[in-house]
Amino acid sequence: MLLRHTNDDIKKRSSLTVNPAKTCQPIGAMYAALGIHGCLPHSHGSQGCCAYHRSTLTRHYREPVMAATSSFTEGSSVFGGQANLIQAIDNIFTTYDPDIIAVHTTCLSETIGDDVNQIAGKAVKDGKVPGGKYVIHASTPSYVGSHITGFANMTKAMAVQFAEKTGKSNGRFNIVPGFVEPSDMTEIKTMVKTLGIDPLLFPDTSGILNGPLTGKYTMFPKGGTSVDELKSTADSIGSIGLGPLASADAVRALDARFKVPCQVLDLPVGLLATDRFVDSLRTAAGVPVPDSITRERGQLLDVVSDMHQYLYGKKVALAGDPDHLVPLTEFLVTMGMKPIHIVTGTPGKAFEKRIRDITGHLDCRVNVKGPGDMFTLHQWIKKEPVDLLMANTYGKYIARDDDIPFVRWGFPILDRIGHSYFPTVGYRGGIRLIEKILDAVMDRLDRDAPEEKFELVM
Ligand code: SF4
Repeated sequence: MLLRHTNDDIKKRSSLTVNPAKTCQPIGAMYAALGIHGCLPHSHGSQGCCAYHRSTLTRHYREPVMAATSSFTEGSSVFGGQANLIQAIDNIFTTYDPDIIAVHTTCLSETIGDDVNQIAGKAVKDGKVPGGKYVIHASTPSYVGSHITGFANMTKAMAVQFAEKTGKSNGRFNIVPGFVEPSDMTEIKTMVKTLGIDPLLFPDTSGILNGPLTGKYTMFPKGGTSVDELKSTADSIGSIGLGPLASADAVRALDARFKVPCQVLDLPVGLLATDRFVDSLRTAAGVPVPDSITRERGQLLDVVSDMHQYLYGKKVALAGDPDHLVPLTEFLVTMGMKPIHIVTGTPGKAFEKRIRDITGHLDCRVNVKGPGDMFTLHQWIKKEPVDLLMANTYGKYIARDDDIPFVRWGFPILDRIGHSYFPTVGYRGGIRLIEKILDAVMDRLDRDAPEEKFELVM
């Protein structure tokens, strides 16, 4: 409805973004911080930024997301936010008693040049951080990168600021899951455990942002990676970072500082990326793949082959984050579909090349842009229509305007539920993704079928 004036006259734009295909850095940092047990995220900037970050996470996960703010006013904007942050640290530990405060910066505090490392050090020196409590911090200026960059920066801060090598192996394997749903984190842990490996997942928002309704409010729910676990990441056997943009920095930092060997893989979305994840774990642990995982893989293959006729040759437009779009594109191509318009708002040189490598053999032109925006995606669709659109909630405007079957996938999803409870990673997650795609494509088939072709059994 709101986009009905978009046309297919594509003009070159270099300094204007229309309908961004990303959100801001601190949102990713806040999400990562919520994956530490007993952690209160803290936004070093104005109240407006913090309110936006909290409300986006609250609307996506439908859980009350708590975070504090340095509440910059005109004075702190000019003279710096040191006094505000030190006062905030004192107030937070006195009032809410978290184990950790995870401070991320904002555009404003970065622009005025606040040195949060120095301020956190001063807070410790001034006795504002009680014994056994911690303040960690990450730099997250939102005029660079996206929510994925913010997630990566805060996750790296966890590794760098907590890890301590004792010299005694903890027998565990670090897994950095990337910016995925709590449900995906549970599925990743389940798969790793099924292979006989003890996962040390960080951050881990499962149980925190998809917890049960108990009738009792708990500010710091049971889930999350503990401080002891974060310290012990330096004693792990190895690390896997899932999603190069969100997770590579953390596992590489542990490798560089503590010689914890690391691998960086794609998110295990779809058949082939999950195969690579399972193979890496199997090789690292020196174990055979258990029957239960082979069975799940077989079920996914069965669904792909059963429903191939409905998906083959279908043209798809995609918007989302690079770590998600690369394996998703590969999955769609595996199923015979044609992802022809692909856009991400997160910058990064490798993205376009990876998509070109995956789609290079298709008999059609593929538009790919990173960083690009949803307006560009819409204009591409106007020029060459598609059979399916997969994007976050904001894609619904394009889907409505051009009457396209639509699958919500990615972040944020503000108008549907399910994503925090049902994973889309791993083999089982692959089946759910196909189910969502088929529901959209086949509902359209039914809607448009003439009466004589309106089939009961498909
Ligand atoms: S983009 Fe910058 S100013 Fe805007 S909400 Fe994010 S941190 Fe705040």
